[in-house]
Amino acid sequence: MFRPVSGKVNLPQVEEEVLRFWDESGAFERSVRKDGRPWVFYEGPPTANGLPGAHHVLARVFKDLFPRYHTMKGRYVLRKGGWDTHGLPVELQVEKELGFSSKRQIEDYGIAEFNAKCRESVFEFVSQWNEMTRRIGFWVDLDHPYVTMDNDYIESDWWILKQMWQKGLLYEGYKVVPYCPRCGTPLSDHEVALGYREADDPSIYIRFAVADEQDTYFLVWTTTPWTLPGNVALAVHPDVEYVEVEVAREGKSERLILARALLPTLIQDYRLLATFKGSELVGRKYVPLYSFMQPDRPAYYVVAATYVSIEDGTGIVHMAPAFGAEDMTVGQQYGLPVLQTVDSEGRFIAAITPWAGMPVKAADPAIIEDLQRRGLMYRSERVRHTYPFCWRCDTPLLYYARSSWFIRTTQYRDLLVSLNKGINWYPSHIRDGRFGNWLENNIDWALSRDRYWGTPLPVWRCESCGALDCVGGVDELRGKPDSNFDEVFRGGVDLHRPFIDEVTYSCQCGGRMRRAKEVLDCWFDSGAMPVAQWHYPFENREKFQEQFPADFICEAVDQTRGWFYSLHAISTILFEQA
Ligand SMILES: [Zn+2]
Ligand SMILES: [Zn+2]
Repeated sequence: MFRPVSGKVNLPQVEEEVLRFWDESGAFERSVRKDGRPWVFYEGPPTANGLPGAHHVLARVFKDLFPRYHTMKGRYVLRKGGWDTHGLPVELQVEKELGFSSKRQIEDYGIAEFNAKCRESVFEFVSQWNEMTRRIGFWVDLDHPYVTMDNDYIESDWWILKQMWQKGLLYEGYKVVPYCPRCGTPLSDHEVALGYREADDPSIYIRFAVADEQDTYFLVWTTTPWTLPGNVALAVHPDVEYVEVEVAREGKSERLILARALLPTLIQDYRLLATFKGSELVGRKYVPLYSFMQPDRPAYYVVAATYVSIEDGTGIVHMAPAFGAEDMTVGQQYGLPVLQTVDSEGRFIAAITPWAGMPVKAADPAIIEDLQRRGLMYRSERVRHTYPFCWRCDTPLLYYARSSWFIRTTQYRDLLVSLNKGINWYPSHIRDGRFGNWLENNIDWALSRDRYWGTPLPVWRCESCGALDCVGGVDELRGKPDSNFDEVFRGGVDLHRPFIDEVTYSCQCGGRMRRAKEVLDCWFDSGAMPVAQWHYPFENREKFQEQFPADFICEAVDQTRGWFYSLHAISTILFEQA
């Protein structure tokens, strides 16, 4: 009645037999019950430019289990595979292959050639990925995947951005952004969150001489000596109490000004001369440490800022608006100048003569030595603290003022938070913890990358009058007045750089519209997948309606601030639902 069962079972062999049966019978395709009520699963797209590893298996077990269960309960669970193909991870690998370490080398090599290499590399290991997927029995449709570098996918990205543009949510701003000097591009807040770790940095206490007062100094603390040549002001907290004390110095005496609360940690022997509120210090002038660059507006005086802390340091903060978001905000309130002492590769510009061309962090020791030699160093130590590094290339990030493109996500902060409350997170503490906290501190999404292999930012600018225009699709671009689209793409359309950069059209003023040169954060691509996987709204309108929003997504916890965030932000802004 029964076949005899051997006591010695070779499990891998049994698995192979089952897999063969599934393949031959088309079990997965046949199991997808098109007549059932949809239960929607989104596949988070991997990049196939590296080999899959054991750590990729766990998430896929869950990504298979739940859809399979709901299929068995009679639901229609379409499982469209996807590939993430753009961005720094891909570029970096090609750079390594070619032995490049800077953007200049890429441009000398040629953007077209470089991007062709990127295009090749993203599917280098696709057969290994497909085999891993098959072997672990993960049922997902890899025959019809969405691919973020396809023209159709890019066009949907453009459509999304145009919706945002029309709502006034896409803008160019001169802001301090986290910036990787090696990759030569700003990063978004969620990318920065991926790269924090411990680092050793200088911790120095410096004397800033009060103007027109002999031997009197503001005592100022910083962990970034390289920002000092960009200093334009000092900040105090208006409501905190400050003191002026007399201390002995090399047989003479000097007077130091600092927050009263920090006096015990810094100075033991002193004579108290005066106490006053921070607000009374505002407007006092000091002698600049450096005068490499001439400010075009009044500078070198004390301003009030409520972000100044008396947790550590001296309660007096040095301000370089080019290198700190808070410095920039306060600097704008006071109309302070911005001294941009650093170039886009993270090196001092020529005007900073003693250290011109040096990577700024490498110049720290020389700056410290200079301050010591001039008698301006009060104390010099090291501090161990957490500092952000580039999530792809591990270079310490700089905070750096530059012009880049943003999505005004802060306008949707409340909705981002409230829609998140309706998401059923497992484990549930992520909802209000790791993800919820993150949303409440939302800042505008730094969207643009000064790179090569990515979805081109669909913004064109008039070279005569500066007018800006956002393009929401291929036909729209082709139909612009006097557009040279068809000429550029005679041999076939590829929406990537450098080809798209050649597409120009007429502005109302008679000038020529040229594309802004940036590409998009690759997290925008993956976050756009609910829309772009269907080439919505250009095609598949019904399919999109049927497959939005998702019932189930599942990824590793690092994706809370990666893919989960970009999905949530884009859906919230576009459809006001999550
Ligand atoms: Zn980098
Ligand atoms: Zn114009």
